Amino acid sequence: MRKTFMKRKKSSVICVVVGVILILLLQILTIRAESLGLGAFNGVFMACQFAICLILVRVDRVHGMTIVSVLLIANITIIVYTIAMRRTISPLPGLCNSIIYLISLTLLERQFSAREKEAVTDFLTKLLNRRGMYKLLAKKVQEKQPFYVILFEITNFKFVRDTYGHSFGDGILVEVANRMKMVVGNQGKIARMAGDEFVVVTEGDCNPEEMADRIIAKVSEKISVTYGNSAVECYLNASAGIASYPDNTKDSNTLIKCADIAMYQATKEKRKVCFFDKDVEAYLNRQVEVEKLIIDSLVNDYFYLVYQPQYDMGKKRIRGYEALLRLQLPDGTMVSPGEFIPVAERDDLILRIDDYVLRRALREFKPIVERKQEIVVSVNVSAKNFSAFDFVERVESFVREEAFPPQHLELEITEYCFINGTDVAVSNIEKLRDMGISVALDDFGTGYTSLSSLVKLPINLLKIDKSLIDDVEENEKNRDFVRAVVSMGHLMGCEVLAEGVENEKQLEVLEKHDCDYVQGFIWSKPVEYKEILMQ
Ligand code: C2E
Ligand code: MG
Ligand code: MG
Repeated sequence: MRKTFMKRKKSSVICVVVGVILILLLQILTIRAESLGLGAFNGVFMACQFAICLILVRVDRVHGMTIVSVLLIANITIIVYTIAMRRTISPLPGLCNSIIYLISLTLLERQFSAREKEAVTDFLTKLLNRRGMYKLLAKKVQEKQPFYVILFEITNFKFVRDTYGHSFGDGILVEVANRMKMVVGNQGKIARMAGDEFVVVTEGDCNPEEMADRIIAKVSEKISVTYGNSAVECYLNASAGIASYPDNTKDSNTLIKCADIAMYQATKEKRKVCFFDKDVEAYLNRQVEVEKLIIDSLVNDYFYLVYQPQYDMGKKRIRGYEALLRLQLPDGTMVSPGEFIPVAERDDLILRIDDYVLRRALREFKPIVERKQEIVVSVNVSAKNFSAFDFVERVESFVREEAFPPQHLELEITEYCFINGTDVAVSNIEKLRDMGISVALDDFGTGYTSLSSLVKLPINLLKIDKSLIDDVEENEKNRDFVRAVVSMGHLMGCEVLAEGVENEKQLEVLEKHDCDYVQGFIWSKPVEYKEILMQ
């Protein structure tokens, strides 16, 4: 960046020097034209001079205009002097030309300057725009003085704009910009990067955290904007991320990225202001990497399923298997579902994963359920997928396409499926059950479902989360909880399974409290498909 800037500066200096020499040569030619017998070309020499002046102003607006003004004013003075001394009006056309050049070039320079300003100004708030901010940062980095970049996001702006419309949103942005200007004053420069994202670049000695806090406090005060014929009042929330030059990076583009990462962390942790942290950057880079691995794996089929048996305590036999997804890269590296499932859930990638797992589990288990009549295969379904408008139809079409007997399929959902209310979830569960498919509530005990909404859920199986089973043999509270959940499950007409059972003592407690099924390392770790085929 710096190299390009230096190169550009060098070439514009050369341009200006060559331009000045050419103008002077042309000036001499114009003066001596008559004596050299080139009088007829005078007009051409002057036109060339004007063209060169124009190029000078275009190449370097400020210096070019200064040089051109000096040359033209000197020219005008000489001509006026000649007219006065020789008492002849023959140089008068030259004088008029020089004055016209000076006026035209001044007007053109003003136009260039206005255009340049327009190119770096945000049309709505009249702050710097993204381009202007990058220009400013490049300049600040040249100066090599420490400064901070503070990136702000109005976290509820989209909600307010979607509620009241775009022109109301524009009014809000103008008000935010004005409030920021009030707080920042001459302690920094402000830009609107895009939508509801603003950046402040600090100037001189200033505490960036304190400035960010003051801006957030000001922006969070009540805002009143005209909406139709009346004024609407609303409150905004904002988060900020701070990056420091030269501590975090010496590159102007990376500074914005660092501030963005810090802001992401602030929003995620529900904090107002965060400083850039290298660990967060590494975490985000890994997320991008994992996202790419997921896409590659879906395309190249690096995914496969393992199955963990579930044991029936009453009948003393295997009740079924839970399908668990594995990702192994061609170099043998395993990526755990604990890492890739949350990344996929942030995106629609989880829908592709869920479809893949369901299809594959149905295909792999078809020959098994045809041999063993009482076996169930459980497939995990993400909350995002369960809430999709076409979820039930998709399940139905997969079951039909694979010709899989639906009574051997169980779908595991979590409490996050009810985050937007229970009505749609209940109706989806009922539709699945009408098709003969069972539904289990996974990780029970870690969520927030109230008892009153839980009892409404027409599920077949409650899976108690491993975290409650872990110390069930020692922790009386957990023991009471397990007992209560088992009785409640039975009262609701569903069965209960304990997840993550690892030792005999836990098993004893669960047996004593009438838990129907167990799943865990005590019985078996998840096993490869070919092993199940042989059982
Ligand atoms: P989950 O559905 O609750 O699956 C149970 C997890 O507990 C599995 O981890 C299993 O290997 C582990 N586990 C079972 N018994 C024991 C035990 O006795 N001790 C210990 N320490 N762990 C035990 P896994 O396979 O790593 O899966 C983690 C989570 O990833 C799953 O939790 C599920 O939420 C998600 N996941 C895995 N496969 C899929 C999938 O195909 N689709 C979706 N949507 N999510 C999946
Ligand atoms: Mg599960
Ligand atoms: Mg679970």
